[in-house]
Amino acid sequence: MLTVINPASGEAIAELPTDTPASVAAKYRSARSAQDSWADMPLDERLVCIRRFREGIVRDLEKLAAILTSEVGKPIRQSRNELNGLLGRLDFFLGAAEGTLAARTVFDADGMCERISYVPLGVIANISAWNYPYFVGANVFVPALLTGNAVLYKPSEYATLTGLEIGNRLHSAGVPQDVFQVIVGAGEAGAALLAQPVDGVFFTGSYATGAKIAQAIGPRMIRLQLELGGKDPTYVCEDVDVAAAAASLADGAMYNTGQSCCSVERIYVHEKIHDAFVESFVREVNGFRIGDPTDEASYIGPLTRAPQLDVLEAQIAEARAKGARLLTGGRRLDPPGHWFEPTVFSHVNHGMALMREESFGPIIGIQKVGDDDEAVRLMNDTEYGLTAGVYTRDAARAERILAQVNAGSVYWNCCDRVSPRLPWSGVKHSGIGLTLSTYGIETFTRPKAWHLRSP
Ligand code: NAD
Repeated sequence: MLTVINPASGEAIAELPTDTPASVAAKYRSARSAQDSWADMPLDERLVCIRRFREGIVRDLEKLAAILTSEVGKPIRQSRNELNGLLGRLDFFLGAAEGTLAARTVFDADGMCERISYVPLGVIANISAWNYPYFVGANVFVPALLTGNAVLYKPSEYATLTGLEIGNRLHSAGVPQDVFQVIVGAGEAGAALLAQPVDGVFFTGSYATGAKIAQAIGPRMIRLQLELGGKDPTYVCEDVDVAAAAASLADGAMYNTGQSCCSVERIYVHEKIHDAFVESFVREVNGFRIGDPTDEASYIGPLTRAPQLDVLEAQIAEARAKGARLLTGGRRLDPPGHWFEPTVFSHVNHGMALMREESFGPIIGIQKVGDDDEAVRLMNDTEYGLTAGVYTRDAARAERILAQVNAGSVYWNCCDRVSPRLPWSGVKHSGIGLTLSTYGIETFTRPKAWHLRSP
């Protein structure tokens, strides 16, 4: 059994039977036998299912937001934002699928025709994270279904109620039971899924788990995508509106209680405005309301996973011992629930885990830099490469800096942002492969090459 805990109260809110290796194998077999007829259906009919799924989300948005908040502790307004953001992603996939998947003639002369068509991979494993279960799940299962794949979807053990809602809603929208199946459980259920002869693995989660999966899957020569963590930096130049930049970055660091893969995790500030920026930033953070995530006024909720409290405490203790200055926060709050104060440090450096390892919580270090070159060097001094940003009034300077930064996505005067129209990917330990954009539809297919000579 899997016990679902409300992280705000520490109370158990559900007990769910988990999958076993035998039940996972049975789900795989039924998905395999159902996939061909799903792929043979005209794309229009699959689009109808996803359109109906969207209608169901709109109809029950409040109920789904409440479920999400109850199991991951996301403040209710942010749960609603996630569901509204999901609608935008669905609109993108619904609009882009047909054009992206149309077979193309790329050469036609002297009796020789060359075409590309798109064939589904087959049965795919979609192993997902808890921090944005609708976003990170839908980035995979929606284009995977639209392109004719069957999906074995394992939500995170911290977002299982949401995962089961997703399954029920896809089935009511017309996706056959066998074509989309939910696998319930923690790491062992994920491992049992990977033991099946699936045709692709699409994983969202930590680098530690992603690396284990890469090792296990590598020799099987199937498509493998890993969307992993980050230590995302932003550089604030001396020409900005300091208060506006501080407000934007405080939100980028603390939204979703700092538990976003693209949360701002490190800030570098030009020495000319460093002190003024830090003062504004701390004022913003101190204005964030911590509290019951079901309360409309709450902005900071509990951490979803209790063990992360220890990670934050260890980073804080080490940073303080090495000379970092604590400006606000720094403590876990008393139980029940997994609460941590929003925390800001200055006088940090890259000798501290706080500036090198993913914190995944409401904690941030701000470091002073002398010029753009130093900022770029520090931004690139990381094992990760998911996103990076710069705040400046000068477009040419922003472009010069962002061109030198090694990250999947780069931001000018914005942060913590994902667009369905743009590819979402990371470099180094932030992962391999991509989702979203038209590339994130093609990636669930195999382009098939046709060489056709007329008789
Ligand atoms: P996690 O690695 O602990 O778990 C992810 C999933 O893997 C869960 O479903 C888990 O049950 C499963 N799992 C664990 N061990 C497994 C195994 N041996 N075999 C198969 N499956 C296994 O990560 P998490 O705590 O759920 O998510 C947080 C991490 O995800 C952070 O590092 C965050 O940055 C990252 N993330 C990245 C993106 C992105 O788009 N790049 C998006 C969201 C989250």
